[in-house]
Amino acid sequence: MKYPKQLPAALLLLTLLLCAVSFTAFAGDEPAPACTHNLVFCQKVEPECEQTGCLAHYCCTNCSALFAADDKQKQVSEADLVLPALGHLYSDWMQKKAATCTEPGLRIRSCQRDLAHVDKQEIPPRGHSYGAWQYEVVPTCTEGGQRMHACIRDASHIEREAVPPLGHAYGDWITKKASTCTAHGLRVRICQNNTSHTIEQELPLSEHSYVKTTAQQPTAVKAGYAEYPCRACGALKLAADGKPERTALAPTGTVAAVKCNARTAAAESITWSALKGAQGYQIKISTPDGKSWAKTYNAKTATGLVFKNLKAGGTYKFSVRIYSKDVNGQWAFGPWTKATTSPTLPAGTAVTKLVGGKKCFAAQWKRTNVTGYQLQYATNGSFRGAKTITIRNALTYKALAKNLLANRAYCVRIRTYKTIAGANYFSTWSKAVTVKTK
Ligand SMILES: [Zn+2]
Ligand SMILES: [Zn+2]
Ligand SMILES: [Zn+2]
Ligand SMILES: [Zn+2]
Ligand SMILES: [Zn+2]
Ligand SMILES: [Zn+2]
Repeated sequence: MKYPKQLPAALLLLTLLLCAVSFTAFAGDEPAPACTHNLVFCQKVEPECEQTGCLAHYCCTNCSALFAADDKQKQVSEADLVLPALGHLYSDWMQKKAATCTEPGLRIRSCQRDLAHVDKQEIPPRGHSYGAWQYEVVPTCTEGGQRMHACIRDASHIEREAVPPLGHAYGDWITKKASTCTAHGLRVRICQNNTSHTIEQELPLSEHSYVKTTAQQPTAVKAGYAEYPCRACGALKLAADGKPERTALAPTGTVAAVKCNARTAAAESITWSALKGAQGYQIKISTPDGKSWAKTYNAKTATGLVFKNLKAGGTYKFSVRIYSKDVNGQWAFGPWTKATTSPTLPAGTAVTKLVGGKKCFAAQWKRTNVTGYQLQYATNGSFRGAKTITIRNALTYKALAKNLLANRAYCVRIRTYKTIAGANYFSTWSKAVTVKTK
C-alpha cells in the first residue's frame, strides 16, 4: 500500500484498518493458503497535532501482512509502526472580548503547528463593583427611606434598596424641673435622631425635710414638746395615727438637798426638798457596795422615803428626780441629782470576855469588818460619866481599862464604827455586861 503524504489522516487510518480486517479474515475460518506476498513499500507518514503517524514499511497487497522497511523478511505488527499524535503547541491566551459586569468575555489561543487549530475559553462576568450607598429618601424615626449605589464600572448599573424606619433613639432621662415637696418636677428623654421627639414624665413629690422644732418649752417641773415641721413648706410630720408627731421634752428642774435624816444598820430615811409644782418624784438606790444602781421607787408627791431591809455597813447611794406627764401621756423625767452617798450603820459586836484585876479589867470582843471599836465603861447602868476607849484598828480584839476604883462593879459595853468620806458611822451599843475590879 502506498499513500501520498497529503492524504487526509482519517483515510490513512481507514486503510490500515482495512488491511487488518482482510488479514484477520484470511486467518479466520480455514488455514490460509501460503501467500506468495506481493510487497509494496509504504512511505513514512508524519504524526500531526491530533493525528498519529506511521513508520515506513512494506505491505503485502494480497494478504495485507506488514514487514519492516529495512528487512522485508521481518513481519511487524501495526502497533510497531504507529507514531503517537504530537498534541497542539498553543501560544499564550489572547483576549478576544472583555468580560463586562454581567456578560462573559472570550479569549483564544492558536496552535503554532497549524493556525487553524484554535482554542477558545469564556472569561466569567466580573460582577458589579458598587460604590458607597447613598440615600435617595432619608429614613426617619417612623418612616422608611430608600438608598442606592452605582457601579463604578458603569454608572447606569444601579441597585436600590428600601431602608426600614430608624426608630426613636431616646437618650437618658434629663431632669427638666426638680420636684419639691409640694410641686411635681418633670423629666424628659430626647430622641437623638430628631430633638422634637420627646417623652416627658412627671416626677414624684420629694420628701418633706422635717426639722425637730420646740413647740412648747419645758419648765422646771412640766414637760414640753417638739414637733417636726417641713423646712420647705411648714407641713407637720404626722405619726401613724395621723396626728402631728410630738416628742416630749423633759422638765429641767433638779431636786435639791437629798440627804439622810435617820439611819440604822438596816434602814435609812432619805428626804429632799420639794420642787414647786412637781407632779411627783422618783428615787433610786444603789447596790450595798454603791457601785451600780439597783432599784427605782416612785415617791409620788412625798419628799422622802424610808428604805428598809438594807445591809449593815453598806455604802448606799441615792439619787432623786421629778416626773411630769408629757404631751403623749407618758412620764417625762427631769435630770437625776448627783448621787448622794449615805451609808447604813455598821453591825455591832459584843464583849466575849471580861476579867477583873487590881483597879483594872481586861475586855475581849468579837472582831468585825469595820474601821475600829469604842469600849465604854461606867460605875452605873445608864453610863453617866462613862469613859470611852477608842480602838482604831479593826484587827484588835482586846483592851485594858486601868486606873479604876478598887473593888467596884463596872458596866461595860462596846460598839463598832466605820469611817466613810471623813465621817464616822457608829453601830448601836452592845448589851452592857458587868465586871468587878479588885
Ligand atoms: Zn501476502
Ligand atoms: Zn502498507
Ligand atoms: Zn495543532
Ligand atoms: Zn456594573
Ligand atoms: Zn425620633
Ligand atoms: Zn414640705
